[in-house]
Amino acid sequence: MPVMMLGSKPGTCAVCACAHDTLSPHSRDSLPYQIRFRDRHGRWPTWADAMAHCNVLIRTAWQVELEKRGVWTTTKKPIAEPVVVGDGKPIDLPSLEPKVVSVRRSKKDNLYMSYGRGDVKVEWEWIGEGGDGDYDDSDPEDEKLLRFTVLYKGEQVDDASYCTHVGIGTSKKMLRQMLKYIYNEVEEPLRNGHRIKKLCEHLSWIEPSWIKK
Ligand SMILES: [Zn+2]
Repeated sequence: MPVMMLGSKPGTCAVCACAHDTLSPHSRDSLPYQIRFRDRHGRWPTWADAMAHCNVLIRTAWQVELEKRGVWTTTKKPIAEPVVVGDGKPIDLPSLEPKVVSVRRSKKDNLYMSYGRGDVKVEWEWIGEGGDGDYDDSDPEDEKLLRFTVLYKGEQVDDASYCTHVGIGTSKKMLRQMLKYIYNEVEEPLRNGHRIKKLCEHLSWIEPSWIKK
């Protein structure tokens, strides 16, 4: 999603583009805050997010006031974003480290792993593929090979799902690093609306040596 970031006025908070001190909540109702938050975290912010960086006294006082007005909103895990006093340039905060969303490796040698942030997600999955199409159990030379798939806004991206030469027995750590590598390659073109078929074809050759130690 190409998101136009509005610059904040010099001296205002770069996170929400409003003037407030570092101890106070962001303005939950500020559009730049909402758009940026949504882009980074994949959901809209609540008031609990907007004040997650504040101390408990301030949070409580604000919550009481907001509840009185009937506009209090909260979420299970509020995300704190410290106040950054802007210099008037468009918001450019260090991006968050994407998280491994889930890993499943059952006894039956199945594997699913996903990695992503907000709208962009990449997955490893074994769907029964081997060196030559379907995995051949009777061939001692064959290997169970993983496929990666790129998702955007919850949907599989066209021409962005490829079987690789990465075996299912690869260490979890390496698999995670590879997913991160793929994620870093596809994120920007994807968010800028570019086609990533060629890129993914290239990425289907990924191997441990691509990962910097
Ligand atoms: Zn703010």
